[in-house]
Amino acid sequence: MLTHFIGGEPVAAGKVFPVHDPVTGAVVRQAHEADPEVVDRAVRAAREAARDWAGLPVGERAGWMRRLAEGIEARFDDLVAAEIADTGKSFDQTRTLDIPRGIANFRAFAEIAAQRPDDAFHLSGTLSYTVRRPLGVVGVIVPWNLPFLLMTWKLAPALVSGNTVVVKPSEQTPGSAAVFAEICADTGLPPGVVNIIFGHGPVGQLLVEHPGVDGLTFTGSTRTGTAIMITAAERVKPISFELGGKNAGLIFEDCDLDRAVEGAVKSVFTNGGQVCLCTERLYVQRSIFEEFCARLAVRAQEVELQPMISAEHRDKVLSYYALARSEGAKVLAGGGVPLFGDHRDSGYFVEPTVVTGLSEWSRFNREEIFGPVCHVAPFDSEAEAIDLANGSDYGLAATLWTTNLDRAHRVAQRLEAGLVWVNTWYLRDLRTPFGGVKLSGIGREGGTRSLDFYSEPTTITIKLEQSDA
Ligand code: NAD
Repeated sequence: MLTHFIGGEPVAAGKVFPVHDPVTGAVVRQAHEADPEVVDRAVRAAREAARDWAGLPVGERAGWMRRLAEGIEARFDDLVAAEIADTGKSFDQTRTLDIPRGIANFRAFAEIAAQRPDDAFHLSGTLSYTVRRPLGVVGVIVPWNLPFLLMTWKLAPALVSGNTVVVKPSEQTPGSAAVFAEICADTGLPPGVVNIIFGHGPVGQLLVEHPGVDGLTFTGSTRTGTAIMITAAERVKPISFELGGKNAGLIFEDCDLDRAVEGAVKSVFTNGGQVCLCTERLYVQRSIFEEFCARLAVRAQEVELQPMISAEHRDKVLSYYALARSEGAKVLAGGGVPLFGDHRDSGYFVEPTVVTGLSEWSRFNREEIFGPVCHVAPFDSEAEAIDLANGSDYGLAATLWTTNLDRAHRVAQRLEAGLVWVNTWYLRDLRTPFGGVKLSGIGREGGTRSLDFYSEPTTITIKLEQSDA
């Protein structure tokens, strides 16, 4: 039974809810659902710890980040197991990406914060300099698709900047956060610096509303982001939003076709398409359209299957498969539910799916599906390709495949997206800005951008007296 982690202590309070293994549908664990009293207790614990934590020199907080990274390394196998049990992710991906990236988050932000210089300016006999003060208590609300990676992505810069936090992981994936609570306790992190509460959306809503929470960082759907923004507006709380996507991939006829096909397979189907950066709209230059579609359709049938996170999400993805058919799509691969003939048949799998033939204005091409699925359409010119990619309400990421260097720069700079990859996808340096435009979010995290969000500058100006000497 997972308990909340408040003021350095486990707290067993509130109703109990089940967490399901998406591979089989079986209940893997149970967790307590925070009620208003639990949320209040967590925020108070964070506030109580805030002054001392903010008062530590940044170098000492950076030291704590390194100790947490070591603590994660020591519990690596437990974290891998917890993450797989909740998400059904592959062992390889969890071991080589999700948990290592969590460790890297703590190490990278320790370095970035400790080495960051302060600003200082001289003007007309005055010296102005800035100090950065933490926001105070930060509410951290994260989704289920990359639970540990995204939680640590926010925690590390928030903590090293001197904030204390109350974290609400997704109700569908609380396991790795519970292991992290134990790591915080085992490393001796001061009580109240990290507090973790479990529960569904309304628990997140209580956290957003709480007057003791000074800022909010949220990764999740655009719909939830909108609700949070409305509530946070009442107290003008700073917010950082990483929201949904409907990402485009552009395949030009001068690409290396083998690499482009493999790149598309990765960008569409990784994590069962349940990554905000996954591609759901592919545009392919007409001269290579037929060949590209044929090859992608074959590869779609070979990829390793990963379940959708829940029965509800599987049904949502399947409803888009049905919608595609009713909107007149041609299904090139997949479109249904795989049959395994074993325990996985009670899990939440869908077939990797490739469709074509829909209008740009179809719901299928406009709404985020968040599954292993893409629509492929032809284009004739570079200008048309750019218009198609930009013709979306979202603007998180885009990918382009070409061997023409001029085109790569020209197109990349015209795409309305926070992140553009050329001849590759997914990995980027943690110091680069991360975030989206339009419905995909507000603000940027990553490197010093994160430190900017999790702290506020105060400008101090001092008159410098002229010496008589
Ligand atoms: P979601 O918005 O349903 O839930 C995210 C979190 O918000 C969960 O912890 C949930 O309990 C909580 N929540 C729900 N309602 C709330 C409310 N009213 N107030 C406060 N908190 C509330 O998203 P999800 O289904 O868990 O995750 C998938 C979505 O996340 C997709 O849209 C995906 O694109 C997006 N995502 C974006 C990024 C990015 O970096 N841009 C990264 C990963 C996922």
